[in-house]
Amino acid sequence: MKIILLGAPGAGKGTQAVKIAAKYGVAHISTGDLLRKNIKDCTELGKKAKEFMDGGRLVPDGLVVALVKDAVSAVENVLFDGFPRTIEQARAVDGFAAVDKVINLRIDESLLMNRLTGRRVCNDCAAVTHVSLLNGAGKCQVCGGVLQQRADDNEVTVKSRLDIYCKQTAPLIEYYEKQGKLIDIDAGRESDEVFKDIERVLDK
Ligand code: AMP
Repeated sequence: MKIILLGAPGAGKGTQAVKIAAKYGVAHISTGDLLRKNIKDCTELGKKAKEFMDGGRLVPDGLVVALVKDAVSAVENVLFDGFPRTIEQARAVDGFAAVDKVINLRIDESLLMNRLTGRRVCNDCAAVTHVSLLNGAGKCQVCGGVLQQRADDNEVTVKSRLDIYCKQTAPLIEYYEKQGKLIDIDAGRESDEVFKDIERVLDK
């Protein structure tokens, strides 16, 4: 099974991807996570990717496609999270993976700025939460670790990421509609509700 999770930044792709991977045993390939790991490990790719990511721009297609091809070579069942993000990347996927389903997490854009600027990620266990759920506590509610704001979750960068999503990634909705693979899910609800709809799609 090969699945793509589409959706604007803040639509909940990462949260749903973790649940899908746990229930269906698919390898979770998040290009954002892979790129951040490269930055943390100070690799050549990480050095190149950082300036694009900090500016809220997309990392060039060639770099991202090579990264995914490498990660996907050893796995049969896979969930792509945050990839593809451009038509060029989608065409590349057509050449190396037979995608079964594309789940589009649809959400009203007005919800996204608050979701993203309020997002906090645990340094230790990578759990994701929102400042409005912390009741003043600054620690991760899963493991007690230190919470951090992602470097690209500030207002200026989020604006750029949302703009780029509209221009470069949203056209993928039509691309996969034409392939008959697109399934639309309302992502403006509690994450458990969203996941129930995803389960219905994947259990078919
Ligand atoms: P994410 O964690 O999915 O929100 O991605 C964070 C950032 O990583 C994006 O704003 C881009 O700069 C970069 N990135 C992640 N996935 C891709 C991709 N498929 N193509 C280009 N850039 C990407």
